[in-house]
Amino acid sequence: MTDTLEQIVELGLCHGCGACASALPEVRMELQKPGFLRPETKDSKAIQEGAAQAFCSGIALEHDRVEADYHPLWGPIRRLATGHATDPETRYRGSSGGVLSALQIFLVERGEVDFVLSTSSDPHDPIGTATTTRAERKDILGAAGSRYAPSSPLADLERHLARGKRFAFIGKPCDVASLRRMARHDPRIDRLIPYKLAFFCAGVPSRKGTVEVLSSLETREEDVERFQYRGDGWPGMARVVRKDGSDASMTYNDSWGKILNRHLQFRCKICPDGTGEFSDIACADAWYGKDGYPDFTERDGRSLIVARTEAGERLLELAEQAGALATEPLAVEEIEAMQPYQANRKRNSLARSSALWAKRGNGPRFSGLKLPALSLRTSPVELARNFWGTFKRIKRPRG
Ligand SMILES: Cc1cc2nc3c(=O)[nH]c(=O)nc-3n(C[C@H](O)[C@H](O)[C@H](O)COP(=O)(O)OP(=O)(O)OC[C@H]3O[C@@H](n4cnc5c(N)ncnc54)[C@H](O)[C@@H]3O)c2cc1C
Repeated sequence: MTDTLEQIVELGLCHGCGACASALPEVRMELQKPGFLRPETKDSKAIQEGAAQAFCSGIALEHDRVEADYHPLWGPIRRLATGHATDPETRYRGSSGGVLSALQIFLVERGEVDFVLSTSSDPHDPIGTATTTRAERKDILGAAGSRYAPSSPLADLERHLARGKRFAFIGKPCDVASLRRMARHDPRIDRLIPYKLAFFCAGVPSRKGTVEVLSSLETREEDVERFQYRGDGWPGMARVVRKDGSDASMTYNDSWGKILNRHLQFRCKICPDGTGEFSDIACADAWYGKDGYPDFTERDGRSLIVARTEAGERLLELAEQAGALATEPLAVEEIEAMQPYQANRKRNSLARSSALWAKRGNGPRFSGLKLPALSLRTSPVELARNFWGTFKRIKRPRG
């Protein structure tokens, strides 16, 4: 079965990575209600059947080859650690331990790549995102910290590839998965992007979610000068600086836990890859536990680091040898206490995506991710609850 871009969006399977906009010049990513980035085109050729299959990781995900032990919940693992940037500023500015920023700084300073392609706030829209190239430490640090907002880091990829220079890519798991799919058809991608880095992702909240956070901070969108969701400590506060110089902040538990996580796009709710299985290295919060739950008390940042490929393992080793990172080994059994949401979502991903097939006769094609094996190990009651919860929320087709 093949699907047009229009069908993928209509089924709720678009996650907004922008791969289609890079591959098809007639397509642009545009913000649509309630605040997600989606492909737009006026040219019907751009949405021809089959084109999307070549790059869209919203509709299909499968591993071509895995260079490491494959853990059903946590994907390919060559090396597992916790750690942080040794540079105190990078650690402080980063979302968790600043590892992704430290790796980017290491790569450009050592000349392994000419630049990095990463996402920060948009200078013209402080609650939006912009993906740009960076080759200086200060610019890389300017993009540190999570932006819990829609981003399309692949939308302009063609322009960056056309420069013929080597660069590292940093994005959400779905961005990196689309990049891997694109690489099957475009040999420039593996040649010019030797490092594809990701972070664990619980889902992308709509712009409306951010506006609601601002409203809780008694701030109108038009009064925002700067807004950050995380960083400057771990987990760090969501903080707005208004145009009149005043500021307001709220805890991560209140911003993410009580507002943003209620605004996630549908595709994220059924996602089987919240952990960046297709990346060379994926980083996450290595939360300490309290009473069996992650504890969000402010402290020095610590990242969970999963090297998934040979390139990723080598990069981690080099960055450590150069003194850019400090790490400690971690046992795979310890990840679940740090990332319970990710474990639960992957276990139930097959049940949730089956609900889409059941209601709409169409849905995502996920394979090689051990989803049937995980379902067999999950209680039937839990699977049924997840199936039904998803089924009843799916809209019937238009028309
Ligand atoms: C939408 C979203 C959901 C997340 N969900 C989880 C989760 O479930 N569990 C978890 O442990 N961690 C999650 N994180 C990631 C986490 O907050 C940290 O980014 C991660 O721990 C890495 O920290 P770090 O200090 O190494 O990264 P940093 O050094 O702070 O670097 C972060 C990098 O991420 C890039 N980035 C930030 N926002 C975006 C974006 N919207 N799109 C593309 N690139 C971006 C920046 O350009 C930067 O290079 C999420 C992040 C986002 C943006």
